Amino acid sequence: MGVQCRMTIYSTNVASAEESAKAAFERISQIESAVSDYRVDSDVAWLAKAAGSGEFVAIAPETQFLLIRSCELARASNGAFDPTVGPVTKLWRSARRDQKMPEESIRRTAADLVNFHRIELSKSSNGAPVARLQREGMSLDFGAIAKGYAAEEAVKMLRAMGTSTCLVALSGDIYAGDAPPGARGWRIAISSGQQQIEVADAYVMLENQGLSTSGDTEQIVELDGMRYSHIIDPRIGWAISERRSVTVIGPHGWMHDALATALCVLDEAASRELLKKYPDCAAVIFERIDDQVQRRMLGNPEMLRTIEFTSK
Ligand code: AMP
Ligand code: MG
Repeated sequence: MGVQCRMTIYSTNVASAEESAKAAFERISQIESAVSDYRVDSDVAWLAKAAGSGEFVAIAPETQFLLIRSCELARASNGAFDPTVGPVTKLWRSARRDQKMPEESIRRTAADLVNFHRIELSKSSNGAPVARLQREGMSLDFGAIAKGYAAEEAVKMLRAMGTSTCLVALSGDIYAGDAPPGARGWRIAISSGQQQIEVADAYVMLENQGLSTSGDTEQIVELDGMRYSHIIDPRIGWAISERRSVTVIGPHGWMHDALATALCVLDEAASRELLKKYPDCAAVIFERIDDQVQRRMLGNPEMLRTIEFTSK
């Protein structure tokens, strides 16, 4: 998935811990081979190739699962999260490589292809999942949901292998199993990403849940004097320039990952509305406005109470 994956496991048996970790890494590879948009042989690649032809493409159960959840999130967020952002992400990547803003007409063409309503999911005659994208040029991008999902799936695999005291981190997408011996949970530092040096702005205790952080701190591009993050606002069809970092804590990897991305796009009122639909989730948002870093907390109040902030 283009990021480093780290697993932390507590076990009294090294051989069984190694075996569990191997199985968990294999589970992540399985998900990656189904949904990566960098690979030429993934379901995502086949769906893009067949887009607009009318042909249905056979998809893996992982792809089916992510498509269903992505469309649910897309509806719940009124399109702030949209798994069909593929054409715009591709354009963004080439803009970053060439350090050049694409022409307005090219951006418009890519933006017009973004529309999750044009995804069709079905079953073949033998009951296997199939899907198609209705317009030529459309493509999927699970970059905002697959890492969180993979982290939780890796924890499930570790648990099934008998190593339930574990933590899996794929870059900013983290999922925790049972708490380490004698601890209340896994203590995870979160950073606003808005300071010169990276410092912990808060600590979150995780047990059998996870968190994702999205925002403008990692992949950015500066074009025509504007700073754009790698998060696309599907409603305008281009990257956002807000200096915002969002951490969402929740019970499922796919859920906190996709919500963190959606909350980067939405304003405060719409963010509150979205979190009402996911009552087991909480969000901490840091935003730089006029050289001041502001902090907002949204969602489940009980979960928010457990967060330790390092400053007021
Ligand atoms: P994340 O780091 O989880 O916020 O995911 C960001 C990645 O998801 C980007 O690099 C894009 O590949 C993709 N993406 C960007 N904007 C959106 C969006 N609004 N909805 C769905 N996926 C997105
Ligand atoms: Mg995400």
